[in-house]
Amino acid sequence: MKERKIILPEKDMPRKWYNIQADLPTPLQPPLNPSTKKPASPDDLSAIFPISLIEQEVSTERWIDIPEEVLDIYSTWRPSPLHRAYNLEKALGTPAKIYYKQEGVSPAGSHKPNTAVAQAYYNKQAGIKRLSTETGAGQWGSSLALACNYFDLECTVYMVKISYHQKPYRRSLMEVWGADVYASPTDMTQSGRNVLADNQDSLGSLGIAISEAVEDAAGNSDTNYSLGSVLNHVMLHQTIIGLECQKQFEMVNDYPDYVIGCCGGGSNFAGISLPFIHDKIRDDKPVRAIAVEPEACPTLSKGAFTYDYGDVAKYTPLLMMHTLGHDFMPPGIHAGGLRYHGMSPIISQLCTDGLVEGRAYGQEGVFEAALTFARTEGILPAPETAHAIKCAIEVALECKESREEKTILFNLSGHGHFDLTAYDDYLAGKIKDVDYPQELIDQSIASLEKIK
Ligand SMILES: *Cc1c(COP(=O)(O)O)cnc(C)c1O
Repeated sequence: MKERKIILPEKDMPRKWYNIQADLPTPLQPPLNPSTKKPASPDDLSAIFPISLIEQEVSTERWIDIPEEVLDIYSTWRPSPLHRAYNLEKALGTPAKIYYKQEGVSPAGSHKPNTAVAQAYYNKQAGIKRLSTETGAGQWGSSLALACNYFDLECTVYMVKISYHQKPYRRSLMEVWGADVYASPTDMTQSGRNVLADNQDSLGSLGIAISEAVEDAAGNSDTNYSLGSVLNHVMLHQTIIGLECQKQFEMVNDYPDYVIGCCGGGSNFAGISLPFIHDKIRDDKPVRAIAVEPEACPTLSKGAFTYDYGDVAKYTPLLMMHTLGHDFMPPGIHAGGLRYHGMSPIISQLCTDGLVEGRAYGQEGVFEAALTFARTEGILPAPETAHAIKCAIEVALECKESREEKTILFNLSGHGHFDLTAYDDYLAGKIKDVDYPQELIDQSIASLEKIK
């Protein structure tokens, strides 16, 4: 019998997160206060975040202890298995070795609980009673609902209206874990009412839902806001993924030449790649880190590297990042988790410094890759994850051409059990590449304020 799963014993689970801010070749630019445009002070952020997370956001300590209570919850599904994709390798006829890290085994079905649990813990410690957040397709909302339930916190989720109606089962899941879920834009916040006054039938967007959730937290002293990606502390919490992979590769005496992840706000990609990028910076390891995006929302490959807001109402601090502009409305694609205008400042800086490469694919090829994976390895991936699979397959086929036995690692960021409508559409031939929105991107970037 072949050994397909590399299982790290629970007692060997990493006890610290890795903070790449200690090792970045170019330090990050500070976030800016949205009204003064001066570097944001901890006080600017303390209305919506606990001090412990604000400290992690700016920390340059290389290793940060994972609290015992967080480790205890992690251990319900962590360490997650590292799989060798023998069947996929065989089907492709490649000499390359393909591994995937299975983050779909968490209760919410993705990597997102790795940070949701940590954020809920630190907010509970700070005496907070309720967390507010936004969600698109519901993956982040369900992860935070799960985490709040573990720590007995209330959870309010502003869910993009079109998804609220199209993805009712993610909403059910959030409600099972005790969250209150509202279709955004709502009439409960000023930012929501402003949008509705303009357009009663607005279908909502992630940028609008973030404005509502931030406004809710800023206006209630017992409530904080929680973001599922983009920010430095989120990238930090996700490094448990790559740190486990490093130990698992040691167990089989291998090491990846390529580390691949799909990229929305950057957190699952950061999680799997940052510990390997640490090796690259420190020991000159020749590992290549590839961030994969949809052609319809190519933030890293086509965005500007500049200061921009995280939301439509401009409530959030300005972050120095790759952005398609906070007003950019990506065309509707099925990988909802990758439809965000901004990118993690850490991933943006690493890309600018040549330590991360971006690649973008159209959704037809992405779904084809998802089916190849489901029909060889058996696991149905989330459409977001399928972007990483598409890239892994492409690299494996390049290896076939060049007859190189490279080692490829990708992050299986989540399963696709709540995305079956999308798969139905693909099987019915209804999924086509959407036109690449270069003109929209140009307009949106040109309208950004110049800040220096
Ligand atoms: C949310 C999500 C993503 C995209 O978010 P990142 O912060 O870029 O990781 C990717 N895959 C899955 C399964 C998700 O739920």
